[in-house]
Amino acid sequence: MYWEPQLQMMCPLCKTNVEVDKEEETFRYEDVCGSTVGSWKHICPNKDCILHKKKSFWNDHGDFYSGDLGFKKARKLFPDDKYAALNSMAKRHEVEIYGKGLKRKIYLSEWWTLKILKPMIEFKYKGDDMGNVLGRTWKLRWLYKSGNQDYYGTYYTSPIVHLYRMLKHTRRDIKRYKKRKSLYDLQEIWRWFDMGVKTGWDRKLYRWYFNTFHKKILNYSKNFVDFIEHVRRNKHNIDENFVRFWDGKLPYDFSVNDYLLKEKCKGSYMDNLIRQRKLERIIND
Ligand SMILES: [Zn+2]
Repeated sequence: MYWEPQLQMMCPLCKTNVEVDKEEETFRYEDVCGSTVGSWKHICPNKDCILHKKKSFWNDHGDFYSGDLGFKKARKLFPDDKYAALNSMAKRHEVEIYGKGLKRKIYLSEWWTLKILKPMIEFKYKGDDMGNVLGRTWKLRWLYKSGNQDYYGTYYTSPIVHLYRMLKHTRRDIKRYKKRKSLYDLQEIWRWFDMGVKTGWDRKLYRWYFNTFHKKILNYSKNFVDFIEHVRRNKHNIDENFVRFWDGKLPYDFSVNDYLLKEKCKGSYMDNLIRQRKLERIIND
């Protein structure tokens, strides 16, 4: 049930190998995605170590739980908030994800672009399980003032790059739909197509491309999204006309009736359909 750590974790303060707490073996916590997971409690066995005295512990990944140690005291003991156990995933994340104690950004003057964009250099670090920095890469990013922001806080992507990404994304979705025929993919295509590129010449180009080369799937996709919306609104009075209308607009291998039965729609049309299906089943058996 619980995941055994592969590495021997160590107390970051006194470098003693941590041990699983025998009295209170496990506890539950929420992970990054918000789901509840179980873990062993790893404590520092060194009786002189303040983390032992204050009943602090780490989970299987090396994340720190302060126990009776106060927040202020903890911050004083660990410069740059590096609480994670040595030899753990959390220790590596301190470098690679959070960049604790490291320079992560350098802002340059917006006057280079006459105050349109603010250049910024963003650093990414490579680390190991002991929290050592192994290497660094950098990337030039551009920031702009979005909406009524009075500071440069939003990443800028040029329309050409954005258009390229969106084309790639939507094309990938279409390809995936053709392969798996999943209705979820069909919904996704319209969602991306509708929201992807908001305004301007790049939107025109984007729309032109898909309307020219993928019109059929695009229509199916839009119709399917509309169909779901209509079913949700008219769940209790579905009639023959409704079914005939949507049957003509959706992919030929999609059965409107099956979908309505699955969604447990009500009304006289649906009662007849259910009766009919029962009869068919009896005859087939
Ligand atoms: Zn210790």
